Amino acid sequence: MDAKLQSVFDGVVRRNPGEAEFHQAVAEVFESLAPVLARNPQYAEGAVLQRMCEPERQIIFRVPWQDDQGQIHINRGFRVEFNSALGPYKGGLRFHPSVYLGIIKFLGFEQIFKNSLTGMPIGGGKGGSDFDPRGRSDAEIMRFCQSFMTELYRHIGEYTDVPAGDIGVGGREIGYLFGQYKRITNRHESGVITGKGLNWGGSRARTEATGYGAVMFTEEMLKTRSDDLDGRRVVVSGSGNVAIYATEKAQQLGAKVVACSDSSGWIVDEAGIDLELLKEIKEIQRGRISEYADRRSSARFESEGTIWSVPCDVALPCATQNELNAADAKQLVENKVIAVAEGANMPCTPEAVAIFQEAGVLFGPGKAANAGGVATSALEMQQNASRDVWSFEYAEERLHQIMIGVHRRCAQTAEEYGAPGNYVLGANVAGFIKVADAMIAQGLI
Ligand code: GLU
Repeated sequence: MDAKLQSVFDGVVRRNPGEAEFHQAVAEVFESLAPVLARNPQYAEGAVLQRMCEPERQIIFRVPWQDDQGQIHINRGFRVEFNSALGPYKGGLRFHPSVYLGIIKFLGFEQIFKNSLTGMPIGGGKGGSDFDPRGRSDAEIMRFCQSFMTELYRHIGEYTDVPAGDIGVGGREIGYLFGQYKRITNRHESGVITGKGLNWGGSRARTEATGYGAVMFTEEMLKTRSDDLDGRRVVVSGSGNVAIYATEKAQQLGAKVVACSDSSGWIVDEAGIDLELLKEIKEIQRGRISEYADRRSSARFESEGTIWSVPCDVALPCATQNELNAADAKQLVENKVIAVAEGANMPCTPEAVAIFQEAGVLFGPGKAANAGGVATSALEMQQNASRDVWSFEYAEERLHQIMIGVHRRCAQTAEEYGAPGNYVLGANVAGFIKVADAMIAQGLI
């Protein structure tokens, strides 16, 4: 890292002790910025980097709730309102036991640049809780969501901060959260949260958008080498919302998806993933991935080893942060992977990214490759603001155009900065410049 950037980075580590994932996310952006600072002295003069690394506002709150047996639990709630230079804070809520301030700050920081890259008017934020939804009844989930919103409601709004889903927060949770917001405020303010149900302000294609977008981005990367997904072997990690719809779009484009996973292990199905079965187990029954192998003879379940040992042409990590390390990357390269796109946020470690780049593998970082979800959230906000409802075809076409635009911005910026094909540099630099210029234009904020 360049010396000036290193000293800002050291300050970030000092000011935010113990937040390893946040440090990692900042380092990944800073690694790309030396040539930008050299060309634009106004950024250092305006202390733009230092300002960007300090969230505009961080809210931490108590979330008390009662389980079905009447026992009381206390969780911690977070909302980090990171940057509003381009629009209202926008980003999801994550409910997972691993959540602490460092995870929310890494996600919020990445969200700033991702949202900038979409070309939509949205700032960056993120929130969540260390609540573990696994094994909880619908009634428990509802009481938790109501308690969470009883504090959160005062901080959010259609023009202020617009949450959505992330790991552990899907359509059911968004429903309970929105219901409580409406009850407290007496406002049917559709634009206050995205990922809503289709008959009460949600957008068609929002559920599919992150996974679809990641595959659309992959297709754009492959096009630069006159290639496409047709007939390609694909491995998708995860089996949540992103993984399921990445699988769906990859299959629509003629690829064969042969593996997916959850936190208990992974399955390989040489006949190709049966998407209806996967949806039934994961979306309806909320079951484990091993059930897929129990119900399909062409599949086997593994609880040891790694899904990245399965040979493939295209790898789509769609589970969680740091799920793909250097050893996995080496194995994928040995198995002749041609493209990797991050459907999750920061799933590849920095060492893994370096291995892909050195091997000439097309690598799409999450800020670009998974921007389709939040971009479609912005389309949902647009429909809410105009009290309109679009068709699936129209929403999907808008998403497609946005992903083509994200790819173009990354590719052109990488060229401009002398690193053609480096989507990491392209995404970081293009995302950064737009936000930095807006911050300077808006004065010392
Ligand atoms: N949680 C998603 C992300 O990581 C979507 C956020 C949103 O739709 O606001 O981008």
